[in-house]
Amino acid sequence: MSGVATEVVATAAHGPPFREAALFTHRGLSGPSILQVSSYWRNGEPIAVDFLPDAPPGWLAAAKRDDPRRSILRQLEQALPTRLAETLCDKIGVRGALGGLGDRALNDAEARLRRWIFTPNGSEGYAKAEVTVGGVSTAELNSRTMAATRVPGLYVIGEAVDVTGWLGGYNFQWAWASGVAAGEAL
Ligand SMILES: Cc1cc2nc3c(=O)[nH]c(=O)nc-3n(C[C@H](O)[C@H](O)[C@H](O)COP(=O)(O)OP(=O)(O)OC[C@H]3O[C@@H](n4cnc5c(N)ncnc54)[C@H](O)[C@@H]3O)c2cc1C
Repeated sequence: MSGVATEVVATAAHGPPFREAALFTHRGLSGPSILQVSSYWRNGEPIAVDFLPDAPPGWLAAAKRDDPRRSILRQLEQALPTRLAETLCDKIGVRGALGGLGDRALNDAEARLRRWIFTPNGSEGYAKAEVTVGGVSTAELNSRTMAATRVPGLYVIGEAVDVTGWLGGYNFQWAWASGVAAGEAL
């Protein structure tokens, strides 16, 4: 599915939900939503993906009442790229006309698509990372001057501090703001 992109809500085990695009690449899953959750992800923990962020609850069962002859694949294609809809149908093992499936089966399928759980086997690591997630603890620094409390004359700014921003310019902002604070104190 390399190159397929779709809007999702992605959530790490210990982080907020991020509603943005997810992108399948030749190596795995990427895109803004996945980059965001990766800051909260720890090795071995699952990620939950909602592939139907815009569909109202009971969407598949309602579609069946609307047009029982429509296939579940055609219905999913209204919300997802065709290749992704096909793959997800295969994975959850539902096929054929909506009318041939009971409401319970449709609701179960919908629930899986809304909470698709997987455990990544790794990340691309620091070589591809946009932010380090970690560094010198803020508890060790003067918050007005960025001076290290235990080492006179040492100032710590930007990525070197354990401050991690979401995507959207917050890491630049932190680098510049902490740099100005230290520069004015020197
Ligand atoms: C691919 C990518 C995309 C990003 N996109 C965004 C974004 O869209 N928005 C956002 O907010 N943040 C983004 N970031 C994060 C942002 O770039 C960093 O948080 C920010 O640049 C950190 O600033 P810094 O001054 O702390 O460190 P750096 O910008 O890494 O600066 C450190 C500097 O020190 C130099 N240096 C290292 N060792 C030595 C040495 N021994 N002697 C002398 N110089 C040395 C390095 O060459 C470097 O120039 C992105 C990062 C990456 C990698």
